[in-house]
Amino acid sequence: MTTFEAQFYDYMIVGGLVTAASVFIILFFITAPYGRHVRSGWGPTMSARIGWIVMESPAVVGLAFWFLLADGLQGGVVWILLLLWQLHYVHRAFIWPFRMKAEGKRWPVFIVLMAILFNLYNSYINGRYLGLHADSYTGEWLRDPRFILGVIIFLVGFTINVHSDQILFSLRGPGESGYKIPRRGMFRWISSPNYFGEVVEWTGWAIATWSLPGLVFALWTFANLAPRAHAHHKWYREKFPDYPLERRALIPFLF
Ligand code: NDP
Repeated sequence: MTTFEAQFYDYMIVGGLVTAASVFIILFFITAPYGRHVRSGWGPTMSARIGWIVMESPAVVGLAFWFLLADGLQGGVVWILLLLWQLHYVHRAFIWPFRMKAEGKRWPVFIVLMAILFNLYNSYINGRYLGLHADSYTGEWLRDPRFILGVIIFLVGFTINVHSDQILFSLRGPGESGYKIPRRGMFRWISSPNYFGEVVEWTGWAIATWSLPGLVFALWTFANLAPRAHAHHKWYREKFPDYPLERRALIPFLF
């Protein structure tokens, strides 16, 4: 890494922390206009399904690119980390969009562009770090409690995320596009267990990689999804008079 890039990288990390804090506050006032919160006034729109593929695939390609760009990649442990990332993003970009029930749903192109920007940024900071520090993830790291715990947390989060999304998909019959109260799985305790799973997942990633970019991504995920879970929760309560009172937004029994 050149001195110029090292400086650029540091700015990216600090910038990521600052924007995560700002986004967390802003999103409590302006809910991102997609899904149930879609509304006019956000410019041209596009198919939601294509939007997901287009905006999430840079994370698949981006991480692999920056990771492989580094010279002298050695050792098997860092490849396990790469595999975890790709497990999530290959599913999100190329499988999830075909499992969702999104007939006729459209999104502002603006949202897709913002997500592409984030994924390019995020795969750069994480992929560059993993590529350049590949050799520090030795066989010893494989036995390190941080790695073991991080991987377990990641896989638990991934399972919660995929399972909760599956429950949501099962609420709609063929051709249906409306909303019902989800009642199975972790929906018994929170309105957005898919988001909860996502936050848990990337917290696991931060622990397993024990890296600053991993931490930035985990904080960004929380900053993005906590306000949205709050908006979903409020929306459910307003729309369904019989919405379970004991249910929380994102964190069981707490928030
Ligand atoms: P939502 O929970 O809003 O929706 C998920 C899917 O289920 C959508 O297809 C939605 O349809 C449908 N759905 C939601 N609620 C109901 C309901 N009550 N009845 C019937 N269908 C329903 O999640 P998002 O679309 O915001 O996110 C999708 C995935 O992407 C999640 O797994 C999330 O964790 C992840 N994600 C990750 C982010 C990150 O920062 N890492 C950021 C954003 C998302 P519709 O679209 O029509 O509302």
